[in-house]
Amino acid sequence: MTEPRKIPRRTLMIGSAAAAAVAGLDALPAEAALDPRRRARFAVWDPITDRSTTAMSPRRVTVHIAVTRSADIYGPQKGAGGSYAHFYNPRSGAPRQHQTMDRRAAADLNGSNASISVEHAGLVGDAMTDSQLTNLAKIFAWAVIHCGVPNRIATVGNLSGLAWHRLGIDGNFGAYDPDDRRTWCRKQTGAVWSSAQGKTCPTNKFINQIPTVYGRAQDWLKTWGGRPG
Ligand SMILES: [Zn+2]
Repeated sequence: MTEPRKIPRRTLMIGSAAAAAVAGLDALPAEAALDPRRRARFAVWDPITDRSTTAMSPRRVTVHIAVTRSADIYGPQKGAGGSYAHFYNPRSGAPRQHQTMDRRAAADLNGSNASISVEHAGLVGDAMTDSQLTNLAKIFAWAVIHCGVPNRIATVGNLSGLAWHRLGIDGNFGAYDPDDRRTWCRKQTGAVWSSAQGKTCPTNKFINQIPTVYGRAQDWLKTWGGRPG
């Protein structure tokens, strides 16, 4: 179950070393190279040292805010408390991928068995930049096409699809309103995705942008020929 898949013949015919370098495919660990279920083509592959080897079947993409504008928060190292997400989405430029999409990361606590997690550069008060919105839409569309994540926005009763960390956080995010995603949290979902009480991850501004991300993802699904629903 955990053996790396064989590299398909088609991808061995990619051409010159220069072409491989342009595609960002040179000098990659064999475990992640060239398999779209494991590695997004548009991301910078930047694996965490000693990352988990535990297999998972993703059911959602989970949005986080790192509360820093740093362009790179992991490198080969894990974050605070040994945490790390599958992706880091900087304010500009390509996203960085730190774990393959079929192995667990450590950002969603009990949700890590089914989450492709995406950390974002941003301070409280920031909205996602245009570049971040596009990167996140691409990650979600990629996860739908290649990893079997349902093409939907998460709801209180169904946490699959495009999700955000607060859905599994306990705290006071205002009176529950079934029409206001910003008020949804562990009180309604029962999900335990963080041990921190009242952690603001992500912020209301990020949650407000979820429909924009989902809308852009539908365009990428069409562009890449993925399934619409
Ligand atoms: Zn978070």
